[in-house]
Amino acid sequence: MSISNSNKFSLLKHLRCPECGLVHDAGQINTVCNNEECRSTLFAEYDLPQGLNPKDFLAHRPANMWRYHEFLPVVDPANIITLGEGFTPLLPLANLKHEVEGNEVFWKDESGNPTGSFKARGIGMAVSKAKELGIGHIVTPTAGNAGGALAAYCARAGIKASVYMPVLTPKVFKDECRLYGAELIEVDGNIADCGKLANDDAVQNGWFQVSTLKEPYRLEGKKTMGYELAEQFNWQLPDVIFYPTGGGTGLIGIWKAFNEMQQLGWIGAERPRMVAVQSVSCDGIVLAFNGGKSRSEFKDSGFTIANGLRVPKPYADKQILKALYESNGNAIAIDDKEMNAAVKYISAKEGMLIAPEGAALWVAFKKLKSTGWIKPGERVLLLNTGSGYKYLENIV
Ligand SMILES: *Cc1c(COP(=O)(O)O)cnc(C)c1O
Ligand SMILES: [Zn+2]
Repeated sequence: MSISNSNKFSLLKHLRCPECGLVHDAGQINTVCNNEECRSTLFAEYDLPQGLNPKDFLAHRPANMWRYHEFLPVVDPANIITLGEGFTPLLPLANLKHEVEGNEVFWKDESGNPTGSFKARGIGMAVSKAKELGIGHIVTPTAGNAGGALAAYCARAGIKASVYMPVLTPKVFKDECRLYGAELIEVDGNIADCGKLANDDAVQNGWFQVSTLKEPYRLEGKKTMGYELAEQFNWQLPDVIFYPTGGGTGLIGIWKAFNEMQQLGWIGAERPRMVAVQSVSCDGIVLAFNGGKSRSEFKDSGFTIANGLRVPKPYADKQILKALYESNGNAIAIDDKEMNAAVKYISAKEGMLIAPEGAALWVAFKKLKSTGWIKPGERVLLLNTGSGYKYLENIV
């Protein structure tokens, strides 16, 4: 790569459709693939230079997700809207380690992010890029955390925000949206119903939508978790990663980061096995995975205390399943009773009051260890996606 290239703040080239290959100009506002038959999620592509030593390259960078700015889509640093998201801690199990004999198990704890979840990464990126593209009003359907993050980042950016949230979401998620000055629309239904209303209003008013994976840049924010994992594990990835899967942005993003880092020469071809953990209430990915399918079916059995997992039909189901199959991964559903008990148990044992979505990972890990799918000696990463403080009214 040339010297001048290495001085660019972002090495973004364009967006490409992972299904049909169509290239899209990243200087324009984009949603999904323009090919009518495809409409897939778009992936950002970068010039990925060889020969950079990651330790030197990343030395003296800020301890937030923007430390990887060359491989992120914001071209002018003046457009960055940051609240300090990312570079969250990697914590070995504390008292629970006595229950995992033979395995080394870590939490990556996203609960300290602004607005209390890893949504800050994706939304922070999407809002920054929206500012760069001159967008003035953003809407999103949300199970809770994405709405709060959108409201906060839009407040900071001076962009209007409208948030569509199921009425059966804990009050704190609604209050934070209002406090951050967003318009809140409470919907008597699930996130799919919210998505329809958000889409109608957005189309009618010319507002921009950042629904999961129908906008290209939330993925780029969540991708930074993959870079951080490699860096924090000293460029030796764990054997297995457990991920609580709603829309799947983080899972697909981490998988994308691994492919980029391999092209950079920062990691080899080996990959962790990816495990999608869902709520039995919305386990369409688990059913599709067990059936060997390439797409999932709509599945919604109602309320779950893990609000972020109530996604009946992820838009990018194909990409989620692809990562699971390519990694020789797995998929498993956990029920509310198990999650509720795990939140309490992990709080008392680990000093971490984590979201039910994250607590589900502990239950899933124990199950897959007891069946022998997790083998002795393997290193395991549980990606806790959010703080339990926002879910207290769900926990009994
Ligand atoms: C949104 C959310 C999820 C699901 O994330 P995806 O990347 O959309 O699969 C998991 N946990 C929490 C706490 C969330 O807010
Ligand atoms: Zn396409």
